[in-house]
Amino acid sequence: MSVELPEARILARQIGSELPGKRIESCALKDCERLQKIGFMNRDAADYQRLIGGAVESVVSRGNTVRVKLDNGWNLLVTPEYGGRVLYHAPGEASSERYHLRLDFTDGAVLTVRLTSMGVIQAVEDDGLDGSYIYRRDFSETLSPDDERLTPELFSVLLGDENRMLKGLLVGKNAIVVGLSNSAFQDIAYRAKAHPKRKGSDLSEDERRALYGAMRLVIDERLRLGGKDKFLDLYGNRGGYTPAMGPHMKGQDCPRCGSPIEGLQVSGGVTYICPACQR
Ligand SMILES: [Zn+2]
Repeated sequence: MSVELPEARILARQIGSELPGKRIESCALKDCERLQKIGFMNRDAADYQRLIGGAVESVVSRGNTVRVKLDNGWNLLVTPEYGGRVLYHAPGEASSERYHLRLDFTDGAVLTVRLTSMGVIQAVEDDGLDGSYIYRRDFSETLSPDDERLTPELFSVLLGDENRMLKGLLVGKNAIVVGLSNSAFQDIAYRAKAHPKRKGSDLSEDERRALYGAMRLVIDERLRLGGKDKFLDLYGNRGGYTPAMGPHMKGQDCPRCGSPIEGLQVSGGVTYICPACQR
């Protein structure tokens, strides 16, 4: 389960419809020593106590990161990239006991955040945002894949004549778009019939268009259907988008051509492909 641009945006919209104006009364951490040690959470637990007293001013997402901005100069950054649960509990509602961070608001509402894999939950001052790796990466100048300024023509220019593999062009900190991880990438590459190790410079104009179209389709459908099928939104509702390609297809036959789906080692991770369709 990964939270990429569509899921982060869904969470940001939902948090933005519930929390603005609410003031944080208390903050609790649970079972997070390991996460603090590896840098997924602030090493100094006292940072989270600085959120107390702040009222939520605005909620935005960019890339895979949700930023909850408070009126006391502090922010909560949430990036459950490889899995996590961000849940809202209305005043009076029973709340989840499984969390790494829990915020209680003065009206009785509760927000719980739990990472189930790699991800980030940070408390950061306005002045310190640029010191946050995920903030720098996601709140950057890089365009979102569904930004209206990103036309097929511009996408083709950005893919350019670069001697870089497609995965590196679309995923990671040097990507030409922000907010895609391997999960979305393998879905996009399969739909576009593109091999992940193809070089940007090798793609024909038609192949570039196909890649652009597949990228837009995956983002739009995931937004429209409430996220990926393993994603739980702020209210615990499951997303309705099933990726065309991913670990669930391992050993299965390609729905297009019948060839067995394979896992391919690319840039430090496994990307699932159809070796016949994606050349
Ligand atoms: Zn195939």
